[in-house]
Amino acid sequence: MSTKDVLIVNDSKLESIILKDLLMKLGMNGIISSEYSILTDLKKTDPVMVVVNYIMEDITGDQLIEEIKRRYPQMVCILASSSDLLKNQFKGFSIEEIMKIPIEQNKLKGIIEKYISNKKNICCHCKKEIQEDFYICPYCGEKLKERA
Ligand SMILES: [Zn+2]
Repeated sequence: MSTKDVLIVNDSKLESIILKDLLMKLGMNGIISSEYSILTDLKKTDPVMVVVNYIMEDITGDQLIEEIKRRYPQMVCILASSSDLLKNQFKGFSIEEIMKIPIEQNKLKGIIEKYISNKKNICCHCKKEIQEDFYICPYCGEKLKERA
């Protein structure tokens, strides 16, 4: 897994680019995805975090996050919205954070530090937690991707 990849799902191209740019300034690699390609992109990229916009063309962000969490329960999912949303509006599954956009660089930095520094080292093949920085996963024997 790359510890720098963050998938961005927002049907506003401008908002996606702004977030990607902000992530880059914080040393992260923002990858612009979409509500239609996110599940495919998740398979290809194995990011540390997904930022999903609330109101989109065919789906709301919370529905999409629910879909992502069903497949990737460990994934850090951030719901982004330009309006004020409350975390307790979304019960039944976990959204790690609600992000009001546009977000200031310092606030985004806080979110990244909170989730990425705490993120456990998980094998990208068998999804088991690995204690140390192994080159080969002790559980499934697969070679682990190099970390950034
Ligand atoms: Zn493994």
